Amino acid sequence: MRRRDLLSLAALAPALSGRRAAAQERTERAARGMPSPKIKDVSVIATQPGGVRLVVVKITTDQDGLYGYGCATFTQRADLVVPAIEKYLKPFLVGKPADRIEDTWQACYDSSYWKNGPVLNNAISGVDQALWDIKGRQAGMPVYQLLGGKCREAAATYTSVSGADTAQVIEGAKRAMSQGYKHVRLQVGVPGMSAYAAGGGQADRPKALHDRPVFEPKAYILRAVKMLHEARAALGAEVELLHDIHERVSPREAVQFAKDVEDVKLFYLEDALSPEDLTYFRQIREQCNTALAMGELFNSPHEWMPLISERLIDYIRIHISQAGGLTPCRKVAILCEQFGVKTAWHGPGDVSPIGHACNLHLDLASYNFGVQEGGIIRGVEAEIFKGVPTYKDGYLWANDSPGWGIEVDEKLAAKYPFRPGRDGLNGGWGDVRRLDGTVIKQ
Ligand code: MG
Repeated sequence: MRRRDLLSLAALAPALSGRRAAAQERTERAARGMPSPKIKDVSVIATQPGGVRLVVVKITTDQDGLYGYGCATFTQRADLVVPAIEKYLKPFLVGKPADRIEDTWQACYDSSYWKNGPVLNNAISGVDQALWDIKGRQAGMPVYQLLGGKCREAAATYTSVSGADTAQVIEGAKRAMSQGYKHVRLQVGVPGMSAYAAGGGQADRPKALHDRPVFEPKAYILRAVKMLHEARAALGAEVELLHDIHERVSPREAVQFAKDVEDVKLFYLEDALSPEDLTYFRQIREQCNTALAMGELFNSPHEWMPLISERLIDYIRIHISQAGGLTPCRKVAILCEQFGVKTAWHGPGDVSPIGHACNLHLDLASYNFGVQEGGIIRGVEAEIFKGVPTYKDGYLWANDSPGWGIEVDEKLAAKYPFRPGRDGLNGGWGDVRRLDGTVIKQ
């Protein structure tokens, strides 16, 4: 180096050193003013105030009064999610920063090496949503503000109407519409059979080669297609109608079903296919214009990426905790926007109120929001989870308190422990079979 250059550097050195010192001082001042919280404890609230088992993670930090809640509810295997949190994620996380959500999610996701299963994803979701809650409480903002703020004042929600026959379904839909619902899901029962979300009335169970609940796809298809046409005629063109096949028919039957109800102009047809048969969505797309929703059983990007990027569905139905929480699902929402797919996050009774709040905050902040299932919490559950979303005239409203805006009465939750459940299955589902004894997907 030439002497002149060395002299220039020597002249600059005090200035550089001064700038570095000032930056250091700013960092230290910021750190003194708002120190990074550390994870002090990770605990589980396991409660069953209603029919389903709810699992919620609580993360407490080393800062007084700074904590958060996240939904980890996989009600059919709830007892397995609890040790995944307590025995694996808790020791992995205690002492780590509570304000690095993305980094924490990636570290947890990778820490099992094998991943993308519902038990581990739910455990991670509990942690992830609790960290978003903490971030909101730190900022003094609801989570939807952290996501960019509201795109709309409230989120349209739908209710599910079921009946043993078409007349009951139409009657129920009219009642829902009078309560302000602009979207109504219609499900009809099949006499003597265990159809999804609808009883079969007083009819005798058909003769079968076994003693388990029965279901025959053909009987259901004939009844459901007829019901949807008659309901549209009775309810008018304006109300948005939805229907869930719940993956109960074969791929070939699903393609035909979507074609047969094209004139009904459904808001969407849900779960026409099972995750094992996703490639058949292309055939439905090629043959009709029925809007399609899919995804409540998805756990992995390998499942949702092809459907979104090839524009094979219209609504993504992921169950946010099953996919690992808000962190991955806000990315899915943004991905969907680029491909013209809207969101319709799964929100039945087996999502905890924290999970419902997460759904709603993402609904409010996503431009490509479609519709929200469920989210109306009443009774003891609303007493345990104070601050749950409220319903008015077909819309769900979030409160504006920081984080999810929900405080959990943990003492009250403890009064409702898990119960053994029907047939002692600990929340697991029983089997449903065709007349000959073949198991069907539920
Ligand atoms: Mg469904």
